[in-house]
Amino acid sequence: MSILVVGSVAFDSVETPFGKAEEVLGGSATYFSTSASFFTGVNLVAVVGEDFPDEHIAGLKGKGIDLAGLKKVPGKTFRWKGYYGYDLNQAHTLETHLNVFSSFNPEVPAAYREAPFVFLANIDPELQMKVLDQVKKPKLVACDTMNFWIEGKPDALKELLRRVDLFVINEGEARELSKEASLVKAAKVIMGYGPRVLIIKRGEYGALMFTASSMFAAPAYPLEEIFDPTGAGDTFAGGLMGYLANTENITEENIRRAIIYGSVMASFNVEAFSLQRLHTLKPAEIKDRYYEFRRLTQFEDI
Ligand code: AMP
Repeated sequence: MSILVVGSVAFDSVETPFGKAEEVLGGSATYFSTSASFFTGVNLVAVVGEDFPDEHIAGLKGKGIDLAGLKKVPGKTFRWKGYYGYDLNQAHTLETHLNVFSSFNPEVPAAYREAPFVFLANIDPELQMKVLDQVKKPKLVACDTMNFWIEGKPDALKELLRRVDLFVINEGEARELSKEASLVKAAKVIMGYGPRVLIIKRGEYGALMFTASSMFAAPAYPLEEIFDPTGAGDTFAGGLMGYLANTENITEENIRRAIIYGSVMASFNVEAFSLQRLHTLKPAEIKDRYYEFRRLTQFEDI
């Protein structure tokens, strides 16, 4: 089953302690779609400006991503500039230029409206809601956000969360949104806003899943070298949703496996700047690392 996604398609300028990249391909929907395309079909709804090169369009199409919902309009593509210190879990935003996204009115092509799996990647919650308004009875609606929207559009975000089944958010943002330091307390507050499944991404410490009656913890893959964590969260979500859509199974047991696939995809993405590593990644490498994850967490009871 395919996934409908809305989110940013961007040019990123990023500096980490290990190097820098200027105006490279980025955006929440770009990372998400590329990652999910390893598992299932993806239908992308987003907007880019006239400065967005055909080679990037061809790259996304080459991954089998359906771009009928990607509009090219006069103006500039979304731009984000940020840096990371030695704590690679913490992105510091220097500049956010919404550009063509500030006047974007998303139109979901008719062929996408019955999408069973919908992912509202990080973008203005009002745009996320406009997409949700156009789809009919999805099996699973998931979404992500970031501090920019938690601080800028808190009411719209809370309105959106009432309509979401699964929410993925990073640790710092979960604390900011809930105003709780303990992640267990934060989870209770956030699930009170609507989502029945909450996944808190913790960068190099892995991910935690909360449901009304259970918790699940997955590690991150211990990598010797990390070049650029940008997009790790979206790549994680792409692997997670891609696996769920591929298996058409949203039981808790399967969501646990999907979290491991998400973690596998994120672990590859951080090995290089922009989407470089996802572009060279082979399905056999995904499977191998999935089994390494299993070995990493296996222990025998006495
Ligand atoms: P993450 O997976 O959290 O590292 O997401 C990184 C991506 O989010 C970058 O490629 C940025 O282009 C994109 N991004 C940054 N700020 C925003 C924002 N305010 N709205 C939507 N996308 C953003």
